Amino acid sequence: MGDRWHVRVDRSLCVGSAQCLHHAPGGFRLDSARRSRPLAPDTDASEQLLAAAEGCPVEAIVITLAESGEAVFPPEE
Ligand code: SF4
Repeated sequence: MGDRWHVRVDRSLCVGSAQCLHHAPGGFRLDSARRSRPLAPDTDASEQLLAAAEGCPVEAIVITLAESGEAVFPPEE
């Protein structure tokens, strides 16, 4: 891959199911309100992070290319 990504979690959508922690151990943590947060919002592209975004039941994880802001997940329609 080689791209740099920006990862964020939409806290208004996150339901604290913790699937993202399962898909990407070390990529996310649940805060005291049981909402997920990325541990490193700016990071190298990672299959695990993409799997976490794809596996989130409410599509709360948004990944964009750090440089251009282009959507990685969810993909542009
Ligand atoms: S998988 Fe989605 S809903 Fe579940 S904790 Fe992670 S971001 Fe929140």
